[in-house]
Amino acid sequence: MCDLCKYKKRDSGFSCGGISPKSDTFNVILRNIFVNHYIVIGLCYIHDIELFRIGEKRFLKKYAHFAVHTARGECGSKVKKR
Ligand SMILES: [Zn+2]
Repeated sequence: MCDLCKYKKRDSGFSCGGISPKSDTFNVILRNIFVNHYIVIGLCYIHDIELFRIGEKRFLKKYAHFAVHTARGECGSKVKKR
């Protein structure tokens, strides 16, 4: 399940229309949260495309509360060192 949809308490399978039921999340690397670290999160098809369209900086600005939630590692994200 998508980490952002889980944070917003939405059903990602329903919002994406069941496009890819086997791999319903795409692993995405966010590089602008910490210096010299990156975070791997899982996003659904809709949020993956939104991240691609508006870019990571605007995406994190739009979902600032989710970024803080992710940086704390509360949504199952993995903080890794570069
Ligand atoms: Zn999502």
